[in-house]
Amino acid sequence: MRRVFTAAIAALTVTTAGTLVTGTPGQADARPGKSRSVAVSAAPKPGSPGLGDPYFPDYGNGGYDVDHYDVRLRYEPATDRLSGTTTILATATQDLSRFNLDFLLDVESVRVNGWTARFDREGVHELVVTAPRGLTTGQPMTVVVTYSGVPSETLVDGYSGWTRTVDGALAVNEPESAWWWFPSNDHPLDKATWDISVSVPDGVEVISNGVQPRPPLAEAGNRMRWGWRSTKPGATYLAFLAIGQYDIVTDTAPNGQQVINAYSTTLGDRKPAARASIERTAEVVDWASGIFGPYPFEAQGGVAAPIDSLGFALETQTRPVYGPGFWRRGSNPYVVVHENAHQWFGDSVSVANWSNIWLNEGFASYAEWLWSEAQGEGTAQELFDFTYADYPADDAFWQVLPGNPGAGAVFDGAVYDRGAMALHQIRLAVGDDAFFRILPAWTAAHRYGNGTIAEFQALAEQISGLDLDPVFTTWLFTPGRPTPAAATRTTTAPAQPKSWTQIRAAHQLLAR
Ligand SMILES: [Zn+2]
Repeated sequence: MRRVFTAAIAALTVTTAGTLVTGTPGQADARPGKSRSVAVSAAPKPGSPGLGDPYFPDYGNGGYDVDHYDVRLRYEPATDRLSGTTTILATATQDLSRFNLDFLLDVESVRVNGWTARFDREGVHELVVTAPRGLTTGQPMTVVVTYSGVPSETLVDGYSGWTRTVDGALAVNEPESAWWWFPSNDHPLDKATWDISVSVPDGVEVISNGVQPRPPLAEAGNRMRWGWRSTKPGATYLAFLAIGQYDIVTDTAPNGQQVINAYSTTLGDRKPAARASIERTAEVVDWASGIFGPYPFEAQGGVAAPIDSLGFALETQTRPVYGPGFWRRGSNPYVVVHENAHQWFGDSVSVANWSNIWLNEGFASYAEWLWSEAQGEGTAQELFDFTYADYPADDAFWQVLPGNPGAGAVFDGAVYDRGAMALHQIRLAVGDDAFFRILPAWTAAHRYGNGTIAEFQALAEQISGLDLDPVFTTWLFTPGRPTPAAATRTTTAPAQPKSWTQIRAAHQLLAR
């Protein structure tokens, strides 16, 4: 979720436009990040400073493809000082004279394949690396960046994506998060695996993605080094850190995977509600697996963030992080359903570019309606009727297009609520039998990759045998309140479904 830098677009360096990757990212290829190609040229050229995202053209970089990040850090909660080394394993996808990483902290040194490399700053977040020897297409690259800084004081537009908390920090944000803690190719098109280790003073907990391959190791100076491993490809914004005082609860899920939940000790009387919600994660994942297809990742869990920290929740891979506001009025399993549905829609199948955000938020929101239906707390149709009636025709809500909301409205409420309404209209158009074949077919076809709305429409049309252009155009790409399918139009004021209050409360924090 959450913060969109329109200023970053203006700062895009376009002096290397001739080296932009060929083709539009995200079109046609199931895994565009793995198949980008560039015309062969006689002389090595700079890698592009962006991947051409229509909303954030300077996010990510061209000319190489990352396979793995090894992030090895040291953190001081008392001062918010972060230091360490990230080792990037990548492959050159063109003959490179230089290439960019996205990063904000102070860099001490960069090495490429063992050689000390020159580095410069450009734009808002570009670290330009020039190796003493050029790199050729297909050549393995090992890039070692040593750095330090105080992330909470490292600001872009007066803002840091790193949250300092009462007892530590959270690296949790969307789409900008990695800039403040590890150098990366920061766009969902370039997925990679990662290992994260952080040394902290003894008594401090460090939570991150994936599995814990070993218990924390004692280090000199009364410190402990925590390690986490993500073995499935992920987008950089889905990597996270939660550092502070946490109670950790472990268990085994129905599918045999490890469940690791963590609860900030600062939550006070909100902690029981947090536990009553997040402890249902394995049940939610088990339920969702029956609808969306096999769970794509290697571990499960959730993190309840400290009091006075995040104002939202994020679907960080394998282990979503929840702000304290969700537990203000008691438990809320709907936000747990939302964030875990993202493990399929957003995390395993990521947007090919940020204009496709409906593929994340529309689907995670609709998962809440399906959960409500399964729990007997209101059917998806009842939620559609009530949501539709809740936004009057002249509400500005209806002017935002879920299928292309604009860079400044990626997390607008319409992407969530009208997004869910759009999926419900698609369900009505194709029928339940086709609809519940389309969802797992989509997650299977684009597993660990990327997708576009056009690709989803094509798949839905292929499975249903129907022309779905009218429903996609009407519900995703046309301003104004559409008229629902005739069969579902209600004439009387719809009754409020039981689940409405909790879904509304969750969306008030999730959407901007
Ligand atoms: Zn979401």
